Amino acid sequence: MSSLLIENVGAVVTMNESREILYGVDILCDDGVVKRISRSGKSDPHSDKAKRPVVADNVIIADGMIVYPGLVNTHHHLYQAMTRNIGRIQHLKLFDWLKALYEVWKGIDEEVVYYGALVGLGELLKSGCTTCCDHHYVFPKGAGHRLIDAELEAAAELGIRMLACRGSMSRGQKDGGLPPDDLVEDIDDILRDSVRLIDEYHDLSATAMRRIALAPCSPFSVSDDLMRETTAIARSKGVKLHTHLAETLDEESYCLERTGMRPLAYMESLGWLGPDVWFAHGVHFNDDELNLLAETSTGIAHCPTSNMKLASGRARLEAFLELGVPVGLGVDGSASNDCSNMISEIRAGYLLHRLEIGHSAPGPEDILQVATAGGAAIIGWPELGRIAVDHPADMFIIDASKFDWVGAEFDPAAALAVLGCQRPVSFTIVAGKVVVSGGELVNVDEVLLAKQARKISRRLCGR
Ligand SMILES: [Zn+2]
Repeated sequence: MSSLLIENVGAVVTMNESREILYGVDILCDDGVVKRISRSGKSDPHSDKAKRPVVADNVIIADGMIVYPGLVNTHHHLYQAMTRNIGRIQHLKLFDWLKALYEVWKGIDEEVVYYGALVGLGELLKSGCTTCCDHHYVFPKGAGHRLIDAELEAAAELGIRMLACRGSMSRGQKDGGLPPDDLVEDIDDILRDSVRLIDEYHDLSATAMRRIALAPCSPFSVSDDLMRETTAIARSKGVKLHTHLAETLDEESYCLERTGMRPLAYMESLGWLGPDVWFAHGVHFNDDELNLLAETSTGIAHCPTSNMKLASGRARLEAFLELGVPVGLGVDGSASNDCSNMISEIRAGYLLHRLEIGHSAPGPEDILQVATAGGAAIIGWPELGRIAVDHPADMFIIDASKFDWVGAEFDPAAALAVLGCQRPVSFTIVAGKVVVSGGELVNVDEVLLAKQARKISRRLCGR
């Protein structure tokens, strides 16, 4: 049994149902969960007294610090960290951007996936993210059969909670799809590997560190059969379903041309609506489609930076929230973001909607809710995304006594969206274990990681 005491916290933004903020408390974590939250015996949490050491013997002295629930990233492609800044493709729209990158991604193997995951997950941990959903859908021939295993290994090494989405592509160019034919897999191989991963890794306990979801890539890279057969396996095994949907108008035209249906109607025809499904993006839904998503409790991973970067459009976050469409936040792949920083994503989401619809846009605390409890709900892990007794002890801590947060402590729930945080968080805690301390990853040597990952990125991009 391991315990951690976070003592004399300046403020705890709980994101519980009443969005309570607690001042001057101690948090005791034991055996991976929050065991007790109690009023601190110490006086004046905002005192200017000389700083004591902040970490000792499983104690964090959190005077002047703010504790937030661990952020839940609901959509990512970690391997893309290795290809995130290739100049000749930066100006392209989604379909052309993908076609150019498929050629680079043909070089993906277990080593690329492992180091890409260490880099992306490391960045996420340093920006307060404690659970990552990764959507890996590129399985080049000869790349080995354990790509998802490689990213789960990286997650375990860093100490982050992971929902690995077994992605897939089965509709190559010869069948009218977007990816090259040598980058798609045989349906039987995909389904066999999906079952293997669920049997090997999927853990339904609330304190699990690993879960699996099934995630065919998109309507323009997956056959109808694979979409249907994937739902059958997911529902028989009780795992979640995920895919990209309604990201661009090109995708809408593609669906209309090929199937005569808009993207959501197409997915409905394949049985892809319901509380066990969440779609990435959801930019181009009409009012009827938004109502259908709400009625069926189908979730959306909102990825504002990616949508801006690829000029895909603006998802109507205010309508999702008003109608009750379940929604979480996602950074999306590093090649369309181009970083894995969840606090930057919160700020981007906050600013994007204000620019477009003015003061009726969701407020800073609404965006934080989407990034925490909202994300936890759409991935079917509602125990996460809040700080409460008996819930998993996932949280991060910002030292608000630093000069760049002067004046910020008056509204801690709004601070992340309004200010952002231009430095790594002070601490990140997953399952009661400190995995970022003093802004540095605890479980890997960052300098060595950068050196090795850079070498592999150069090999991949130099192809
Ligand atoms: Zn994506």
